[in-house]
Amino acid sequence: MSKHTPAERPPGRRARAAEPAAANEGIIEGAVEMAAKPANKAAGDTAGNAPGNTAANASGKKRGAAAVDLRIYSAVVNAVMSHKLPPGTRLGEAEFCELYEVSRTTVRKALQRLAHDHIVVLRPNRGAVVASPSPQEARDVFTARRAIERAIVPLVIRHVTPASIGRIRAALDAEEAARRSGDRAAWIRLGGEFHLLLAELAGNAVLQRFMVELVSRSSLIIAVYENPGVPMCGNHEHHDLLALIENGDEQGATALIEHHLEEIEARLHLGTPERKLSLAEALAGC
Ligand SMILES: [Zn+2]
Repeated sequence: MSKHTPAERPPGRRARAAEPAAANEGIIEGAVEMAAKPANKAAGDTAGNAPGNTAANASGKKRGAAAVDLRIYSAVVNAVMSHKLPPGTRLGEAEFCELYEVSRTTVRKALQRLAHDHIVVLRPNRGAVVASPSPQEARDVFTARRAIERAIVPLVIRHVTPASIGRIRAALDAEEAARRSGDRAAWIRLGGEFHLLLAELAGNAVLQRFMVELVSRSSLIIAVYENPGVPMCGNHEHHDLLALIENGDEQGATALIEHHLEEIEARLHLGTPERKLSLAEALAGC
């Protein structure tokens, strides 16, 4: 069971809520946007329904609303990855409407996408909350991450360029700067983003899209089963990984990423798998 209760929103939270989207429009938005394009095109049901609009205006508004639902999606993912939105936090539609100045239709679209990626749970008539993954889900997410990241690392090495090495180095510097300055939220988020950057540099959009979901879900898992505010990743392993990538050591880099993910999973207090009691067991002695 989660040790967290839904967080009360402190005053001033609304003002801060929009920040992550503006601060990190790179990695997450890139991955989500790439994957979202066909869906938005097919849906075509966003804003732009005012009578008298020219076709061009209408399509402009549609694009605008689609972009906002991605911004909302990315802002929530960023806040989850920074442990600023703990599991169980209620996500009020009205607040999103006010913050982003959009219709409920647009907000619902973003929340549905988040629910589809298991970052948010939609409860009939009671709105959306940040998901609280079960121990079984936690194991499944880390098994999936090991499988996918084992595939990503050799691809990064095969596609490596001086520019991609430069980006990895910059990501490590940002992580280190956040750690030194004591900005834990940024440190936690940047640790996750390091893995998303590798997925991007692997040059496979499908793997990249999976990773946005898996890294966000991992952040929720750590908030529930380790401690909120604890970084997922040890920075030195990220540095070691860069050295192996630079040396073109596919085998070493694959082994290291696997070990790195096993270590993260091993720190979780997942307990024994949840088992439902039979009625006889539950009633015994009562
Ligand atoms: Zn890591």
